[in-house]
Amino acid sequence: MVADEGTPLSPLEQEIFSWQYDVSGFGLEGQLRLKQATVMISRCGGLGGIVAYQLAAAGIGRMLLAHAGSIRPSDLNRQLLMTRDGIGTSRMDSIVRRLQDLNPDLEVIPVAENVSPSNADRLVSQVDVVVDAAPLFEERHAMNQAAVRFNKPMVECAMYELEGHLTVLLPGQTPCLHCLYPEPPASWQRRFPVFGAVSGTLGCMAAMEVIKLISGLGKPLAGELLSFELGDPSFRRFRIRRNETCRVCGHLAETCD
Ligand SMILES: [Zn+2]
Repeated sequence: MVADEGTPLSPLEQEIFSWQYDVSGFGLEGQLRLKQATVMISRCGGLGGIVAYQLAAAGIGRMLLAHAGSIRPSDLNRQLLMTRDGIGTSRMDSIVRRLQDLNPDLEVIPVAENVSPSNADRLVSQVDVVVDAAPLFEERHAMNQAAVRFNKPMVECAMYELEGHLTVLLPGQTPCLHCLYPEPPASWQRRFPVFGAVSGTLGCMAAMEVIKLISGLGKPLAGELLSFELGDPSFRRFRIRRNETCRVCGHLAETCD
C-alpha cells in the first residue's frame, strides 16, 4: 500500500512499515495512529523491554519509559535492551540507545525512576496506554490507581517460571488490578525464576495488545485473563469480573457489565 501525499510518514517510514499496512484491518490509518500515540511502560526489563522493542519496531511515536537502576549481570538472561559492556551503567541510558538504534524516529521520554504513588498521576496522565511490567505490587497498584483516575487502558502482564499471564484493564468496563488482587498474591516474589524466552513471549503478546488498543485492530483481551504455560505448552483464557465495591474503581459502577 502506498501512503497518500501529505502523510506525516516519511518515504523511508512508509517502506519500513509497508508489511504491516497489508494486515487486514490495519492499513495506513492504523500506522498513523501508532505514530501519533504515546505509550508508558513501567519497567523495561525482561518483559517491558520486549514490549518497548516491539513497539519501537512497529512505529509507535512516543514512549514514556520508567525504570531505575544500573545494569547487573543477573539482568542479562532476559533484559535484551541491556548489554554486557553496560554492566554497572544506567539501565535507562542503554534502553534509550537500543530503542533509538532500531527506530531513530521514536521519541523517548526517559524516567530513570520506578513508578510510585508520588509520580504515578504525573506519568500516567501524559499517555494514551499504560503497560504494567513492574516486579513490585506497590508499583502496580500505584499505576492501576492512576490509570483508573485518568481513564487509561492498562495492559497488565506477569510471569513466573514457564507461565505468563496477560489481560487488558479498561476502567469502568473490566476489573481493575485492585478488583483482581486487593492484596498481593501470597506467591508473589520480587525475585523469581524465569527464562528470557518466556518473558519475551509475554512481551510480544502485550505489545500486540497495545497495537490493537491504539489502532483499533482486532479485539483487545479485555474482561478475560490469558494464561500460558510453556513446559507442556498450553494457552487458556478465563473470564474475570469487576468487584462493584472495589475501593479503586467501584465508583464507576454505573458502567458495570
Ligand atoms: Zn477495581
